[in-house]
Amino acid sequence: MAFEIRKVGIIGAGQMGNGIAHVAALAGYDVILSDQALERAQGAVATINGNLQRQVQKGTITEEARKTALARIVPVEGVEAFGDVDIVIESAVENEELKRKIFASLRGIAKPDAILSTNTSSIPITRLAAATARPGRFIGIHFMNPVPLMPLVELIRGIATDDDTFETARAFVQNLKKTVAVSEDFPAFIVNRILLPMINEAIYTLYEGVGTVEAIDTAMKLGANHPMGPLQLADFIGLDTCLAIMQVLHEGLADSKYRPCPLLAKYVEAGWLGRKTNRGFYDYRGEKPVPTR
Ligand code: NAD
Repeated sequence: MAFEIRKVGIIGAGQMGNGIAHVAALAGYDVILSDQALERAQGAVATINGNLQRQVQKGTITEEARKTALARIVPVEGVEAFGDVDIVIESAVENEELKRKIFASLRGIAKPDAILSTNTSSIPITRLAAATARPGRFIGIHFMNPVPLMPLVELIRGIATDDDTFETARAFVQNLKKTVAVSEDFPAFIVNRILLPMINEAIYTLYEGVGTVEAIDTAMKLGANHPMGPLQLADFIGLDTCLAIMQVLHEGLADSKYRPCPLLAKYVEAGWLGRKTNRGFYDYRGEKPVPTR
């Protein structure tokens, strides 16, 4: 019989961690949501409640479902409470050293058969798995942002991931009502491997003066039927994140076609990181976003 997941432990209660806790609790799993400081985990539960309330207002879930889901999420500090979780989903900041430390801290705490997983966008799954005592029980589960709204999850097997781990993770993701795309463990997996070079090319198009911010975004929205222009999307993802993913592709695949655009690097150096800093390819400080070039 396949391993059954009942309790989920999430490490890192940031924008992704809280989204994963949200969908897991709505799907009926008990959730422990952990961060470095209890206040951050508690703050994430408050954010989840706000997002659940919005779903109630839109009529996509009932008030009863909101209350039940919220009651299933327990905010904690650290990993001491992870002794009875069936799957750990690590979603702390994108830093390999930190992630290794987190997995090391689970030694002797997580049950021997618990699955260990990571939501990393770019760190090789095989390399993180090798840092644990159970590479066979290790897998990449890559959610999209914002988790409650995006229907896709990439599943990435490390070289040692065993079949039971893969099938259990697949069933878990399907229970969250998400669709799985299976990716091999190569830099940036599938979605970011394709999406980020397109965004980077849009930035080169701007850099070389082929079009303005407005022309490029309008062209891709109306000419390629994209719901958002590539520069608008870059601002939404965060320009620092875009640059980091291009660097992973460039270094990991050693091909000049992944060279990050110097203009992207310049925006990041300026601290113009997109929506989160109110300025990127657009300036968000006024009523309407205004192109910065
Ligand atoms: P975030 O900065 O919003 O959240 C990270 C959280 O980790 C913070 O709350 C921080 O306090 C916490 N943290 C730091 N050190 C910790 C520790 N030692 N123990 C526990 N918690 C710790 O970041 P995010 O956007 O939620 O990203 C988290 C992960 O998800 C990253 O690996 C990222 O690559 C991946 N990811 C991000 C996106 C995205 O679009 N943002 C999409 C898919 C995957």
